[in-house]
Amino acid sequence: MVVIEAQWVLPEAQNAIEAIRASTDSPLAAIFITHPHSDHFGGINAFVETAENNLPIYACYLTLTSIRNDSEGFISQRQEAFGDDFSNPVTLPNQIVEYGDEIEFGEVNFRILEFPHNESLTMTMPYLPEQGVLFSGDLVGNQRTPVLREGLTAL
Ligand SMILES: [Zn+2]
Repeated sequence: MVVIEAQWVLPEAQNAIEAIRASTDSPLAAIFITHPHSDHFGGINAFVETAENNLPIYACYLTLTSIRNDSEGFISQRQEAFGDDFSNPVTLPNQIVEYGDEIEFGEVNFRILEFPHNESLTMTMPYLPEQGVLFSGDLVGNQRTPVLREGLTAL
């Protein structure tokens, strides 16, 4: 079981974990974080606590440093707004990926695509070439507006 994104808040993460457990006995093998917007990792500590071993958390270097430095203040804002429902401290990614990396989980082979300066500072997208599946993060949305406050979409 590989989870793409770790939910916005801890109660959502707990709901996701329960739904996963209801559908499979497969252990959680890893998490991918596509970009440093807090709605993609605020529930991460719930996943880490349920993992049997040291959970690999994949992200690109820009995502890691953005979360670690909280340079935009997004994380502290969310921790203040959500209190105990937001991971604090946020468990950081511990596996750095970059464009072109390939990661195997059993018979599933992820290829890493990464595009800077879009809806976020960067977007790391796990791709399953054999299945033709792309996890696009917030690069593609359905009937919603992407986050524009960073001003990167005009670049
Ligand atoms: Zn985003």
